[in-house]
Amino acid sequence: MQNNLTFTNGTNLRIGTIYGIGKNYSKHAREMGGEVPKDPVVFIKPAASYVEDGGKIIIPDISKSVHHEVELVVVISKECVNVKSEDAHEYIAGYAVGIDATLRDVQSKAKAAGLPWATAKGFVTSAPISKVVPAEEIGNKEPLFSLLLSINGELRQKGNTADMERSVGKLIEYLSEIFTLQSGDCIFTGTPEGVGQLNKGDNVRAELVDQVSLEIIIE
Ligand code: MG
Repeated sequence: MQNNLTFTNGTNLRIGTIYGIGKNYSKHAREMGGEVPKDPVVFIKPAASYVEDGGKIIIPDISKSVHHEVELVVVISKECVNVKSEDAHEYIAGYAVGIDATLRDVQSKAKAAGLPWATAKGFVTSAPISKVVPAEEIGNKEPLFSLLLSINGELRQKGNTADMERSVGKLIEYLSEIFTLQSGDCIFTGTPEGVGQLNKGDNVRAELVDQVSLEIIIE
């Protein structure tokens, strides 16, 4: 098991809790048959679900439908308790691209039964994350990023974090009112539209345009 996030400058940080935000882009909320909720949808993936660049998503036997969701991942630098959105940039170690791998069939059953999404979202290998670009290299306090995801060279998802319903700052404000965020915690900030199925043997490439990319094989 991989424990450390690697930064593009060669430094490492032990990975902590992985938070996920659902339905943070309106077009994706609609393709899932819903709307953007009043309060953020939050779920958690275990740290042990992390996969580094060049690794694999292993489809578990409980599912026949694993979906890709390309997302901006924010890495926390220090403890966050009741952080205001305008101060959130002071708590960000860096930015990465991740794939919020989701067992869509398992999640659909859970939704229909009013049950949690833990197995659908937190299975082993459900959290591939690229190398992390240090926040100080990005500079801007509230940077915007373009996201791409292709399968076997074919473009499947394209989005920009400008379309997020809640900004990174607002998400850190919300999460830090409820949880204590710590150094090494990661936030998957939601996916744009265009999610779809992954199949064994697929080569998946996710990209934070002009910053960093992530290559994953499906097994
Ligand atoms: Mg997601």
